[in-house]
Amino acid sequence: MEDTIAAISSALGVGAISIIRISGEKSIEIINKIFNKDLTYAASHTIHYGHIIENGEIIDEVLVSLMKAPKTFTKEDIIEINCHGGINTTNKVLELVLSRGARLAEPGEFTKRAFLNGRIDLTQADGIMNLIEAKTDISRKMSINQLNGQVSNIIKELRTNLVNIISNIEVNIDYPEYEDIEVVTSDSIYPQVLKMHEKLENIIKKSEDGKIINEGIKIGIIGRPNVGKSSLLNTLLEEEKAIVTDIEGTTRDIVEGKIIINGIVCNIIDTAGIRETDNVVEKLGVNKSYDIINSADLIIMILNNNEKITEEELELLSKIKNKNHIIVINKTDLENKLNLYVKDAIKISIKDNTGIEDIKNRITEIFNLDKIDTFDMSYLSNARSISLLKKSLNKINECLSNIKDDSPIDIIELDLKECWNLLGEIIGETYTDELIDEIFSRFCLGK
Ligand code: GDP
Repeated sequence: MEDTIAAISSALGVGAISIIRISGEKSIEIINKIFNKDLTYAASHTIHYGHIIENGEIIDEVLVSLMKAPKTFTKEDIIEINCHGGINTTNKVLELVLSRGARLAEPGEFTKRAFLNGRIDLTQADGIMNLIEAKTDISRKMSINQLNGQVSNIIKELRTNLVNIISNIEVNIDYPEYEDIEVVTSDSIYPQVLKMHEKLENIIKKSEDGKIINEGIKIGIIGRPNVGKSSLLNTLLEEEKAIVTDIEGTTRDIVEGKIIINGIVCNIIDTAGIRETDNVVEKLGVNKSYDIINSADLIIMILNNNEKITEEELELLSKIKNKNHIIVINKTDLENKLNLYVKDAIKISIKDNTGIEDIKNRITEIFNLDKIDTFDMSYLSNARSISLLKKSLNKINECLSNIKDDSPIDIIELDLKECWNLLGEIIGETYTDELIDEIFSRFCLGK
């Protein structure tokens, strides 16, 4: 028998109401020990008003929701106690529940049980987490589609297509003597595999957009000291979050903020001026800046219109050449001394507030933000799923080239089976315990 688990499911802190959730076979037995009513024979999906009692003392006035297995989130008996939201009261009620036979749930354990008991699959579990973390309307809508199982259905449909091809091949291998079975040849399955290829490519493209929708775009602002990095961040954020000063090297810490362009969250990071320096504190900042170049989805490099280009800047320009980047020439209100022509550079003056919109438009252009299809939001959005989709596509590519090379049909079948397995991993049809622990540990407590 599984342990009965309990946790506070609402946010910690003072609020009007807190929810303590209990799941498992002993849920009803436990609530009966601390509630002034016996819920043993109460109907499922009912709410009961009463008191939580310890040794005759009323601890709190509560509403208890009773949901009996199997029609519950975890498919187990679930009790939810709505108690008053003070920290002391909430902890006291939880303590009582634990002392009467429940174990404190691990983060994500309710959802993990929902998965292990077949109530949801892995993409739906991801959907729950994304919904909790959603910061924009689009991201929320996408998470709901994931939670509703629309995404799982797309994957399941692909798997069904694969099974159809595979079973046709198998019948041919196993019963070659049957004359009324259509003979499967590499040529006859080529169009079907090609169709799979097309569908997978389409889902991957959409899923990458989905990742942007969910996680946003990470943008790093880099450049020599004093070119206007902090000023640009401030202007974009329209608030004074970064320190703006004309003493070189004062933006030592990385300062960041978020803006929303076309419904997509952009996390903008202002780095310390990148340059060789002996100052230890500043060096730390400089190293961070190089990290940002490697990890950001987009680099905005600022040059000063009023100064000559330096060796360091030329080096930086070559470092970001192969990354998504925007070169911005700032201080166009001052005399032009910059002796470098940069194609596609955006000219701005933060002082005069000109050119800022051009930067936003360029970001939209680079990530096709205006073309992200927000109507059909049934796609996978996490790195794990996207990487599995890409592996599946690789398998299909191998399969296509094996067909072209006239490889034996059983080799082709093997490719298709491997692809079927990889797609299964996305929805959690095939999984390892470590993977499941890893995925659910990212959830918050009580979920
Ligand atoms: P950072 O070191 O790159 O972060 O540069 P800051 O944002 O701290 O700006 C350095 C100095 O340049 C400050 O005195 C700003 O007011 C000034 N500055 C920023 N943008 C402009 C601009 O467009 N024109 C002029 N004239 N000065 C600017």
